[in-house]
Amino acid sequence: MEFTITQISLHEIALPLVEPFRTAHGDTFVRRLLLTELVDADGVRVLGECSALETPDYLPETIDSAWTAIRDHLAPAILGKTFASPAEVSAALEVTIPSHNMAKAAIEMPTWALAAVKEGVSLSEFIGGTRKMVETGLAIGLQDSPSVLAAKVEGAFAQGYARIKMKIKPGADLEYIEAACMAADGGAHIQVDANCSYTLEDVEQLREMDAFGLMLLEQPLAWENLEAHAALQREIETPISLDESLDGLESVRNMIRLQAGKIVCLKPGRVGGFTTALQIHDLCREKGIPLWCGGMLESGIGRAYNVALASKPGFTLPGDLSPSRRYWAEDIVSPEWVMNEGGEVGVPVELPGLGVEVDRDRIRELTLRSEVV
Ligand code: MG
Repeated sequence: MEFTITQISLHEIALPLVEPFRTAHGDTFVRRLLLTELVDADGVRVLGECSALETPDYLPETIDSAWTAIRDHLAPAILGKTFASPAEVSAALEVTIPSHNMAKAAIEMPTWALAAVKEGVSLSEFIGGTRKMVETGLAIGLQDSPSVLAAKVEGAFAQGYARIKMKIKPGADLEYIEAACMAADGGAHIQVDANCSYTLEDVEQLREMDAFGLMLLEQPLAWENLEAHAALQREIETPISLDESLDGLESVRNMIRLQAGKIVCLKPGRVGGFTTALQIHDLCREKGIPLWCGGMLESGIGRAYNVALASKPGFTLPGDLSPSRRYWAEDIVSPEWVMNEGGEVGVPVELPGLGVEVDRDRIRELTLRSEVV
């Protein structure tokens, strides 16, 4: 099965959020989102989504840096060329420019959807997914007070979510964790995400979290410092799960070798796409490292890719795969993503490719700018 990419378009949309998203730069009420659209020589059209945020709070990439990287460096490396597999696309992108993984993933992942469409199977089936349902966790941002957080945690478990992930930072940690664990009857279904905000100086504070029996502590220290995570993991019981640190297969190998973490948060955008994500999945499975699928405030398009990935057997922990209505008044796919009372989202297997229809009229209404490369 060969394919030739004949056109790549970029679309920036402004997707309204149901509640403000808080970052270091303030509250935002819309998600600026970069969508990619690929067409092949047979006229098959697929959409992708870049996971980069508007500002470089998470990692250095932004939707603007990704736009430039795709237009000037990445798209030219695959346009007009014939590939025998999406893995060949990944290899062609890899040799263009260093880093820019989210930009690379935004055009690599749609080639997986394209290949699945051409084979007439769902994306999940195409990549060897085995689950028909995936467990869903809810991510909750920093809240104004422990009691506000506790109410949200209670509400989320009542809705059926399989676990809660809460953000923490120095000065807003133990009190908040305690409130969440009280509301949840213990920490077994609670994970905390520090987004690199602590240092090894904080080891006493971080060790106190052991008392709550949390599922995991996500990315406590600086992303480039695996050795420091290894040192911390030797001092605390709570399993560390790395997120920002893991930019590819090599960094996961290093995590395992140094024992810098015990659980992997996998985001296909962060590692350059599905080719590397699937390699990481297989390595973790072989080494007995649990995986969960992280989120980047995706629309229903990005969600389709993540749900397909999370249907692989190594994803034994709930992912950030919340239903459309958690974030969006109206999603850009139909059907919208929904969650059942058991906190699960169905893996679409009926339609070839992503398994959801893209609402092109709605995308057109929300578009701020478009460019054909
Ligand atoms: Mg994280």
